[in-house]
Amino acid sequence: MIVNAHVHFGLLWGPLENWPVGYTADELLRDMDRDGIDKAVIIPFIQNYDNEFMAKSAKEHPDRLIAFAMINPWRHINRKDDIKRYADLGIKGIKLKSPWEGYNLNDDMILGDVYEACVEHGMPVLVHTGDDVACTPLQCEEVVRTYTEITLIMAHAGFRNLADEAVRVAKRNKRIILDLTAATSQQLRDALREIEPERIVFGSDSPFMDERVELEKFSVVIDDEHAKKCIMGETILRILKMHV
Ligand SMILES: [Zn+2]
Repeated sequence: MIVNAHVHFGLLWGPLENWPVGYTADELLRDMDRDGIDKAVIIPFIQNYDNEFMAKSAKEHPDRLIAFAMINPWRHINRKDDIKRYADLGIKGIKLKSPWEGYNLNDDMILGDVYEACVEHGMPVLVHTGDDVACTPLQCEEVVRTYTEITLIMAHAGFRNLADEAVRVAKRNKRIILDLTAATSQQLRDALREIEPERIVFGSDSPFMDERVELEKFSVVIDDEHAKKCIMGETILRILKMHV
């Protein structure tokens, strides 16, 4: 079972003619079939996101697509109500991209409701990390120490800038998961040396990164069969409480 835990999905919304990126269900399923991917976690493009559309798309392909919702906390007045509604629609997790939206990941005043609601509904929070002061691994550590039942997935595992810090933070905090999407193969090697494969996930950041390239990176670096099974699918399914 191979699960791609990080795919951007949806139509192009909003006034962004200069950024013509979209990824439809037809395109995604075609690529998944080509690449031997069983399921994909779909995350909205962050601009003018539509979480209901995400839920609807996952419902149309229940065996293949797993929907996450995006929350820009500035755009949701009743954050807890909105997250409950998304949970009721079948959304499995919440994505935050703080550097583009003007807040820090450890800002309780802005995100407290989001983190509490995610704990309440058993949703992991997928956070962009590493390329900005608004999304550091140390901020993630503060979050998991404040919200002790939360599961925090660090997308890109600190990217280049904070890759070492991401591994150290994950080592100290069992509720942190490393998503090595779009990270270097050396980052993946470093993570494997320090963190158990039950806390590492594969993703591709499609359509920005080519799924085939990311698959190759994981296949070149991981030689242990148990680690491969976990990282390529079992870890994310366990976190989402879905059957393997
Ligand atoms: Zn991404």
